[in-house]
Amino acid sequence: MDLPITPELKEEVARFRLAFCCEHCLHFADEPGACDLLYPVAPHRRAAFERPPPGARLVFCKMFEAR
Ligand code: SF4
Repeated sequence: MDLPITPELKEEVARFRLAFCCEHCLHFADEPGACDLLYPVAPHRRAAFERPPPGARLVFCKMFEAR
């Protein structure tokens, strides 16, 4: 599932403290910044949401598990 990254979405993420990025996932190892399930992390990293390139969409990972 993916969503357009809009100011409203960012406001809701902040207001409800939504966790969905690799940095909040049980499968993410801070060092070396990789997924223990070997999924590509770039689309799901916090930076991809906070500083998206123009037209980027928020891509949710179906394997996300909150820490
Ligand atoms: S399972 Fe998905 S959200 Fe979790 S670390 Fe891997 S790629 Fe990121």
